[in-house]
Amino acid sequence: MEATTVTRFAPSPTGLLHLGHAFSALTAYCAAREAGGRFLLRIEDIDPVRCKPVFAQALFDDLRWLGLTWEEPVRFQSAHGADYAAALEILREMGLLYPCFCTRKEIGALAAPQENDDAGPVYPGTCRDLSAQAREALAQTRPHVWRLDMARACARAGALFWHDAAKGEVRADPARFGDVVLARKDVPTSYHLSVTVDDALQGVTCVTRGEDLFAATDIHRLLQALLCLPTPRYRHHALLRDATGRRFAKRDKALTLRSLREAGKTPRDVRAMVGFGDLSL
Ligand code: GLU
Repeated sequence: MEATTVTRFAPSPTGLLHLGHAFSALTAYCAAREAGGRFLLRIEDIDPVRCKPVFAQALFDDLRWLGLTWEEPVRFQSAHGADYAAALEILREMGLLYPCFCTRKEIGALAAPQENDDAGPVYPGTCRDLSAQAREALAQTRPHVWRLDMARACARAGALFWHDAAKGEVRADPARFGDVVLARKDVPTSYHLSVTVDDALQGVTCVTRGEDLFAATDIHRLLQALLCLPTPRYRHHALLRDATGRRFAKRDKALTLRSLREAGKTPRDVRAMVGFGDLSL
């Protein structure tokens, strides 16, 4: 029997939701509804500097106003550090993590330019083979992050594939990202780790999200293999653009759901603006 479809919308509360978010949330919502499944909302608030409770509250209000409903309780990532720490510990015990003491500046000077989107430069591996003594000495004076030893991780996982609704079977190539950071001192997890752990813990079967995260799915697929987590199906949707072809961003104040609502638009108007005009809620 086919498992119940479970989708989710997983915003970070770093600003007010805009039309792009409405499109993404409605895409996930409708995918669940069409399949007679479940829709979840998850608040990705691991970064205490950029995420604000006031934006989490605003996004609940805006999504409700838009006509969406979701299952309670909503998972706030900031309340689940223990789950991410447990996953990190598994990877550490497998010998796949190492502490990296390099500063951003040092990495920028050494690293090969990254071919991928906005993932930053590929780490040149400076700290990968430090001796235990060198690590201890550096730890006295410098903070560190935890990096995945990508070559070892890929060797351990073997060939990996995932399924995208538009592209079909995709062969994962996480190696091109190099030794990605999985935890920091100030944020003891990372987007890649927490999203992978949460999608599994919440039983998400279909990840719908913007195509800007298409490449990152290769890393998530690798983490699933290493942590023995199930692999959901993926549906990466196009990003909405404004009239000049620019992606909507939180800086586009006039296109926040809040300002559209204040300007007199109805929820149905806003749904229609992002292509969901026929939806009856
Ligand atoms: N929290 C991410 C964002 O707001 C989305 C993560 C995901 O859907 O996987 O961009």
